[in-house]
Parts: sequence; structure tokens; C-alpha cells
Amino acid sequence: MLPTIRMALLRWIVLFAALSCLVGVLDASAGDADPIYQACVEQCEKTGCVGLKCFQHCKFSSDGKSIDGPWYLQEPLYQQWKQWDCRSECRYQCMLVREEERKQLGHMPVKYHGKWPFRRVYGIQEPVSVALSALNLAMQFHGWLSFFILVYYKLHLRPNRKTYYEYTGLWHIYGILSMNSWFWSAVFHSRDVDLTEKLDYSSAVALLGFTLILAILRTFDVRDEASRVMVAAPLVAFVTTHIMYLNFYKLDYGLNMKVCMAMGAAQLLLWAVWAGVTHHPSRWKLWVVVVGGGLAMLLEIYDFPPYQGFVDAHALWHATTIPLTYLWWSFIKDDAEFRTTTLIKKAK
Ligand SMILES: [Zn+2]
Repeated sequence: MLPTIRMALLRWIVLFAALSCLVGVLDASAGDADPIYQACVEQCEKTGCVGLKCFQHCKFSSDGKSIDGPWYLQEPLYQQWKQWDCRSECRYQCMLVREEERKQLGHMPVKYHGKWPFRRVYGIQEPVSVALSALNLAMQFHGWLSFFILVYYKLHLRPNRKTYYEYTGLWHIYGILSMNSWFWSAVFHSRDVDLTEKLDYSSAVALLGFTLILAILRTFDVRDEASRVMVAAPLVAFVTTHIMYLNFYKLDYGLNMKVCMAMGAAQLLLWAVWAGVTHHPSRWKLWVVVVGGGLAMLLEIYDFPPYQGFVDAHALWHATTIPLTYLWWSFIKDDAEFRTTTLIKKAK
């Protein structure tokens, strides 16, 4: 790789990071500021109906007590749930009605409460993103399983039954964290409530933090335990603090976006520079993942409304990670094989 191309790539990564910080800050929603929408929601919460469509969730009497049903479902938890359900149902139905009117007038879709207007399928809020998250999860599992089989059954083991490859344990943790993260992503996209959102964000941040540690350890070839702990400890502390801040103090999207983009860009940079200087036989796979990952970030930045109410930029972003995951695990397996043969050659 020519140095000029490398420089150009680095500049792009920095630009992505800078742009995405901007997007994180500008998170206003035009949809819920619309007075027609607001009036619709207010009306709906009183009557339980939008136009001719009425639903169960809003049927509680005016004094706040449930009309029928056993005592344990009446106060106060059940009522809170009902009210909450009523509100989310009203917001959804009013959004659909309002978006239909806007479409007739030739307007583009707008965001409501920070989210694009998605159509539900069997109560699933973003069915495409759910399906793609599940596919990503399956892909991670496939990659992890084939890595497991490779290092324990196909490659030679040390006399103490451990693998020659020094990063086996780290890649196992990576596999588990990424499967966990895709699981919560699927849950979050099917029903977006405070708890599922926090679980999704927290697992994503944990994964990103861990992959940064892994990138540092692998690219700088840190093999002894003490140095690994020295590198990992401050990062683990930082990521833990950040996750606690998001969950127990404030779910600050702008700040989280900056932290994620910084950690993401840092590891892309590390891998890109390393791929440029190393003579690793599979470095081209790294190049594809780094460039593909950078391009995929564009989709998160140029956030467009869902096509037909289903496929938005975020869903497409989840689609691009599927082939990248395949290639990534393929690189990891090549790396395990490469390191093992090198170490065995050295031992002989
Ligand atoms: Zn997602």
C-alpha cells in the first residue's frame, strides 16, 4: 500500500469521526413538534381512538382505577403500564395517520421522538433490523464455532493442551461479547423501551471497548500477561465508567456517539496502519474490513428515512456487517493458523 493512499485513508477516517460527532449533537425531531400530531396524541389518550381505530390499552376510567380485572392488576403498577402502553400506541397510530397525510401532500418523512416512522409487523417495531441482527448473530456464532474447531481440533496443541496461538482466549471473549451485543440489538429493534435501549447500548459499548483492547494487543503483539493487564486496565475502567454513566446518570446520545466513534476510529486506524506495515499473509482481508467498516460508518452518518417504512440507513448498516463479519472471522482463523505454524517452526 502506497503511503499517500494510507494518508488519504487516515484523513477519511478522521473526517468520518468528526462528521459523526456533529450528527450526534443534532438530534431534533420535527414530527413530534407538529401541533396536528400533538393534538392527535392528546385526543387519543383521552378517548383511546384515532379516527375510527380504537384500542384496548387506553380503556381505564377517569379516576385512574381499572374498570374490571383482579385487584393485583389495578393499582398502581398495572395502571402505569396501561397508561404507558396507551401513550405509545397513540403515538404510533397518530404518527401513521400524520405520515400518510404528509405523504399525500408530497412531504418527506420526518422523525418522531428521535426515531424514523417505521411500520410495525406483528408488533415488531423494526422487523428488517431485527432480522438482520439475528443474521449477524448467526454469522458471529458460525465464525466463532469454526474458529473453535480450528484451534482445538485441526491445529496442533502445546504439550499442556493449550493452543499455540496466543490470542485464543481473547477471541473467545470477543465472540461471546459480539453475540451478546447482536442479541440485545435484535431485542431493542423489536421493542424499543428504556430497558432494552440501555441493554443494547451497554452491550455495544462493551464490545467496542473490548475490540479496541484486542486491536492494541494484537497490532503491538503484546503477549505477556503483565503488559496485557497494563494496557487493558485503564480501558476497562473507562468503558465501565461510561456504561455506568449512561445507565445510572444520563443516557446522553451525543456523548455516547462521540465515545463510540472515537473507539471505533482508533481501532480502524490501528488495524489499517498495521495492515500497511505487516507482512501478514492475510492482510488484504484486514484492508477490506477496515475500508468496508469505514464506508459502513457513512450509513450511520447519512441517516435517511425508511424506504416504504421498513429499510432505513441503520438497517442497511446492519446488513453490511454480515459479510464483514464473515471476512473478519476468516482473518482471525488465518491469523491463528499463521501464528501456530510460525511458532511450531521456531520450536523445531
Ligand atoms: Zn441497531
